[in-house]
Amino acid sequence: MTSAGMAQERAEQVVAAAGQLFAAGVMSHSGHANLSARLDGERFLMSPGSVRDLAADQLATIGLDGQVLAGEMSPSAAEVIAMHGVVYRARPQVGAVIHTHSPAATAFAVAHRPLPCRTEPLLRFGQAEEVPVVPWGPRGSDVSVRGIAAILAERSTTSAVLLANHGLLAFGPDAAAAAHLVVAIEESAEAELAARALGGAVDFPEGALEAVRASMARVTR
Ligand SMILES: [Zn+2]
Repeated sequence: MTSAGMAQERAEQVVAAAGQLFAAGVMSHSGHANLSARLDGERFLMSPGSVRDLAADQLATIGLDGQVLAGEMSPSAAEVIAMHGVVYRARPQVGAVIHTHSPAATAFAVAHRPLPCRTEPLLRFGQAEEVPVVPWGPRGSDVSVRGIAAILAERSTTSAVLLANHGLLAFGPDAAAAAHLVVAIEESAEAELAARALGGAVDFPEGALEAVRASMARVTR
């Protein structure tokens, strides 16, 4: 595939992922989100502002250092470029990053409470550990970005972080996988909160991740 063809395909995947988030009902009232997808070792595509009615040709091309190489970013989207760039720099295998204010996940972020892995979908996504909380800093600021980098270094296998007093940042091999993870995290956060009325969510038994992996391997073999 030509690099233009690949860029077009990635852009369409980002648009589809934005639609998937709205369809799944995981967006906050404002519909605020930003989505990006890696093009190569040096560049990524990013949504330029509102993601309602996003079109593939609206995505901007950004350098991993945060420089806008092509397209136009709204001032508020430009502010959060660094939040995406830091993930691509820290995790070479990450192909897409999504930031949302998904309400239940954001409740954990606002309470500075890590989200435990206590639901099957989250475990199946390989997010077998809690989703950690990054200390607050103004969005996209050096403080916030350094906080994200520190947690990514410390938690080398987490696929998401909660941004204190702000929202969720999730990432995956491609835009569809990152969107699925946002949905799994939001469902888990809702289930955690609902379970509190029933005495609280309960941890998986020891060895649950290994058991799920063995079970998935049997089906896909
Ligand atoms: Zn935000």
